[in-house]
Amino acid sequence: MKVNPTSPRLISEETKTIKFFLALFYTFFFAYDIFLYYLMPLYTKEGKIGLSNEVFGYLFHIAVLALLPVALYFIKKGNPYIVKYIFLFGYVAIETMNSLVIYMGSDKPYDSGNIVELLFVFFSPIFVNKKYFWTAFICMIGKYVIIGAILQESAVILPIIVFFILTVIAYFLLTRFTSYINSLTSVHLELRQKEKLAVIGQMAAGIGHEIRNPLSALKGFTQLQQERNPNSNDFYPIMIQEIDRINSIVNDLMYLGKPKEIKFDKANIEEIIAYTLSITQQQAERHSVTIETKIAGPLPPLDCDSLQLKQVFINLIKNAIESMQNGGRITINVMVLDGKKMNISIQDEGCGIAKDSIPNLGEPFFTTKMDGTGLGLMVSNQIVQDHQGEITIKSSVGKGTMVNVTVPISQISGKK
Ligand code: ADP
Ligand code: MG
Repeated sequence: MKVNPTSPRLISEETKTIKFFLALFYTFFFAYDIFLYYLMPLYTKEGKIGLSNEVFGYLFHIAVLALLPVALYFIKKGNPYIVKYIFLFGYVAIETMNSLVIYMGSDKPYDSGNIVELLFVFFSPIFVNKKYFWTAFICMIGKYVIIGAILQESAVILPIIVFFILTVIAYFLLTRFTSYINSLTSVHLELRQKEKLAVIGQMAAGIGHEIRNPLSALKGFTQLQQERNPNSNDFYPIMIQEIDRINSIVNDLMYLGKPKEIKFDKANIEEIIAYTLSITQQQAERHSVTIETKIAGPLPPLDCDSLQLKQVFINLIKNAIESMQNGGRITINVMVLDGKKMNISIQDEGCGIAKDSIPNLGEPFFTTKMDGTGLGLMVSNQIVQDHQGEITIKSSVGKGTMVNVTVPISQISGKK
C-alpha cells in the first residue's frame, strides 16, 4: 500500500529521524577527527600527525559543516526527506576530493575515511527507505572503488569488505522493518474496511427496512390500478418494473447489514442457471446479447441455497450484459473440478475492467455505471463466501471479462 509522504505526521517522523541523524553525524565526525588528529598524536606516536595542519584538512571540515545550514533550510521548508541524500552525496563528494588531494602524488599510506560513513548505511533501516538504502550502498562502495582506481591503492579493499558486510546486516534489518510496517498497515486497512462495512450495513439495513413496507404497498396498488384500467395500461408495466428494481436494490442493501442465513439444500445447478437466464433474457435481447451455456456432462446435485445462488448469477450475468453496449456473446461454462468443486464461469466480450478498478471491485458502492449501485459484486462475493467458495475475475480492457465462481459440491465439511 502507498502512503502519502506529504502527510504532516510522516514529515514530523522524518524530521525527528533526520535531526537524530544530524546530531550523531556531527558528533561522530568531529569526535573521530579530534581523537585521531589531536589526541592520539599527543599520547602515542601513531595517528595522522601532520594532516590537521594542512589547509585542506580545515577546508574539509568547513565544507562538511557547511552542509548543516542546507539541511536546516530543507527541514524548515518541510522537506526533510531530501536531507539524507544531500548529506550522502555532499559528504561522499567532499571526502573523495579530500582523499584525492591528500594522497594523489604523495607517498603517504592511504587511510580510509571517517567512521561517520558507517552511519549512512546504519541509518537506512531507521529511515525505512529502500531507495536510500541502495543509494547509500552504491555511493559508499563507489567512493572506495573510485579512490582505489585513481590512487592505485589496494588499502580500499578493507573498507569495501566492511561496507559489504554492514550492508547485508542493514538489508536484513530494513526488510524486517518494512515487512512489519506493511503487515501493520494491511491489518489496519482490513479493520477499517470491516468497520466501514459495519456502519454502512447498519445504516443500509435500517433504511432498507423502512423502505420495504411502503414499497410493497406501492407495488400492490399499482397492480390493482393496472387491473382496474386494463385499457390505459401503457405505463403500469414500467412502474411495476421500476418498483421491482428499487426492491432488488433494497434487498442488496439489507444483505449488507445482516447477511441472510443460508439454507443449504440439494439443488440442480442447471435449473439455477436456466432460471437466471429466464430472468435476464429480456435485458439481453434489448442489448442484442446472445447467451450460450455449455454444461460439461451430467452434473451432481449441489449443496447450496439456490435462491441466493440465483441472485449471484443474476448479478454476474447482468454485469456481463451491461459491459457490452453494442451487443455480443456471453458464454457460461459449468463443470466439475477435481470431483469436489463446481465451477461456473461467465465470459463476456465487453469493455473489460481497468487495472486500477480491480482492487475496488469488492467495495460496496464502487461502480463505473451511471445508474449502478456498486452492490452486485459485493453481495455476490458475500454469498459465495458463505458457501465456502470464491469468485475470481480475469479481465482485459476492450476484450472482455471472465468471472469464475467456484463452490464446493458438498457442504458437509464446511457447514457453518
Ligand atoms: P454495478 O453493476 O451496480 O456497477 P457491481 O458491484 O455489479 O455494481 O459492479 C461493480 C463494477 O465492476 C461495475 O460498475 C463495473 O465497472 C465492474 N464490472 C463488474 N463486472 C463487469 C464485467 N463483466 N465487465 C466489465 N466491468 C465489470
Ligand atoms: Mg452489477
